[in-house]
Amino acid sequence: MDYFLTEEQQMIVDIAAQISDERIIPRRAELDESHTFPREILNEMARADLFGISLPEEYGGLGGGCFDIVLAVEQFGRGCVGVGTAFAANYLGCFPILLGGSDEMKKRYLPQVVAGEKFAAFGLTEANAGSDASGIQTTAVADGDEWVLNGTKQWITNGGEADFYSIVAMTDRSKGPRGASMFVVEAGDPGFSCGPKEKKMGIRASATTELIFKDCRIPKDRIIGRAGTGFITVMKTLDLSRPGIGALAVGLGQGALDEAVRYAKQRQQFGRPIITFQAVQHLLADMAIGVETARAMVYAGARHIDAHPKQMSKVSAICKTFATDMAMKVTTDAVQVMGGYGYMCEYPVEKMMRDAKILQIYEGSNQIQRNVIGQELNREYA
Ligand SMILES: Cc1cc2nc3c(=O)[nH]c(=O)nc-3n(C[C@H](O)[C@H](O)[C@H](O)COP(=O)(O)OP(=O)(O)OC[C@H]3O[C@@H](n4cnc5c(N)ncnc54)[C@H](O)[C@@H]3O)c2cc1C
Repeated sequence: MDYFLTEEQQMIVDIAAQISDERIIPRRAELDESHTFPREILNEMARADLFGISLPEEYGGLGGGCFDIVLAVEQFGRGCVGVGTAFAANYLGCFPILLGGSDEMKKRYLPQVVAGEKFAAFGLTEANAGSDASGIQTTAVADGDEWVLNGTKQWITNGGEADFYSIVAMTDRSKGPRGASMFVVEAGDPGFSCGPKEKKMGIRASATTELIFKDCRIPKDRIIGRAGTGFITVMKTLDLSRPGIGALAVGLGQGALDEAVRYAKQRQQFGRPIITFQAVQHLLADMAIGVETARAMVYAGARHIDAHPKQMSKVSAICKTFATDMAMKVTTDAVQVMGGYGYMCEYPVEKMMRDAKILQIYEGSNQIQRNVIGQELNREYA
């Protein structure tokens, strides 16, 4: 389908697609098997200016928006969701600074990310605070010219690989959710360390670790915005980022459809290619319907967010939920089309099916997204 992209947008798609085809796809099985973080591929993305797509020009970025970033992320999702997640989590780590940080803070961190010199991550989740983020236990206490952080974050993407982390901690527990604040913690800050890499079902090229703060001391000016605004910044960050998860899902669905069609055309049973059986054609047709409708939704949602940045939550949740549920179904059906071969590791669809599952869980599970959509509907129809 023609989405009438501008010349610049088409250029983003072409560059990202080239990196996906030439650098990601040939290495994705090996990266997955060896749980290897794709540092060289990310460096290549940075050299192609893709780390700056949606960061403002004054900080060295290309000044694009949510739609521009979605176009690149989709191509990386087509190649490997593990690599795409590492790329997307870098933006996730930058968004709190972009949305809530001072000009000085933006100048300090964002140009280095654009140049590929620094890499970012985002730390909210803890062992007892997943969907219910208000349960976080990590604290930050002011002490002279410093903040002292204590606590442990869990399952943080790019953990151990990032140079700085946008993290959430309670600065005043008595104020409940209004007592949370965001901070930038740098790798090497005293009292800060990362746990070992988690072993995961999928997205194994991405690194997932704990972030451990033991009397971690950081300068006073590392707070993002004002004390107490932490959860507002978190919600805005995730609203801005979730269409990107939808885009990873669209790319993944497209990749699975491509594999399934190619296979169905060459696999012969009962003396003819299996694509000539109507039952197989209908499976493929439903996969194509899912991928294209999710793409249209994610593109439209991202464009809406660029035009109406104050009305993000519902649209962003719809993009994430619809596209990621589609990717789970389409990758499962791709394995079905390919039969026993689809189940074998020598074909890429088993990895795609494993990778799809996390998209329905992280950045807010799809049940939580449905809660967000339902609450917005309740408000809209008041
Ligand atoms: C590989 C990976 C990478 C991640 N990367 C990051 C990262 O970079 N930064 C970060 O901060 N976090 C990250 N996370 C954490 C992720 O965002 C959480 O796992 C997610 O928000 C869900 O929290 P939970 O796993 O604790 O599940 P829980 O909150 O315990 O939920 C368990 C189940 O209950 C359901 N549920 C819970 N509450 C409700 C409710 N009110 N209504 C309906 N259903 C409900 C959920 O949908 C889910 O199905 C990552 C997680 C993984 C696995």
